[in-house]
Amino acid sequence: MSYQVSPVGFVRSCFKEKFAIPRQPQLAPAARGVLELVAPFDQGEAVQGLEQVSHVWLLFLFHQALEDKPRLKVRPPRLGGNTSMGVFATRATHRPNGIGQSVVKLDKVEPGRLWISGIDLLDGTPVLDIKPYVPYADMIDDATNGIASSAPQLIAVQWLKTALQQAKGHAQRLGEPLVELIEQCLAQDPRPAYQVPTSEREYGAQLWDVDVRWHYPEPGMICVLEVVPAQ
Ligand code: SAM
Repeated sequence: MSYQVSPVGFVRSCFKEKFAIPRQPQLAPAARGVLELVAPFDQGEAVQGLEQVSHVWLLFLFHQALEDKPRLKVRPPRLGGNTSMGVFATRATHRPNGIGQSVVKLDKVEPGRLWISGIDLLDGTPVLDIKPYVPYADMIDDATNGIASSAPQLIAVQWLKTALQQAKGHAQRLGEPLVELIEQCLAQDPRPAYQVPTSEREYGAQLWDVDVRWHYPEPGMICVLEVVPAQ
């Protein structure tokens, strides 16, 4: 049996590539985007009442990780990429039907547009449904998860003086909290856990329309080298 679903909208996100996106929502509050609704949901009626809600659940498609062959086990990056787990014990992107879910902050509601932050979504992500977060039902005080028991440990982020100036300039131009976004994303240490970086090795990712480059001057520390217009 198969069913068809179609997106109610698409996310315009600060994240233009998968690398350096936080592994869950809320880890980078400065990660912002706009969910642009498509017809017929782009009419004001569809979002009426949402202005009374602080957060929403987004159900979406991992459109850049869809696969034909279902996996029963996955190797979540959270576990270093070399321990496998049952797919249903993880929130890995490779999963049956490719469906993701994230709770995000709703900053502003307009007909056809939801301004959201704290996102972990790639630019262009198709959204299948939107539901209000309901604190009394969704917040479970005594919930436990032995695989992911707490937020990932943060690492220190430093800046070259020139890089910080570049980031501040682009932040002003974009009207976005770019310095905070870079610090919050890099503090998650986006590098695959199995890679031991030498201090010469440079990493990079695109946020909005800029390329951010960094390296690891010593283990457990990142230094931002430059923030320049994306090629
Ligand atoms: N919070 C969601 C969940 O639990 O279903 C997503 C968790 S998943 C581990 C987060 C990762 O998904 C991000 O780090 C990013 O690399 C990846 N991602 C985000 N949007 C995507 C998309 N549209 N297609 C493929 N991968 C995506």
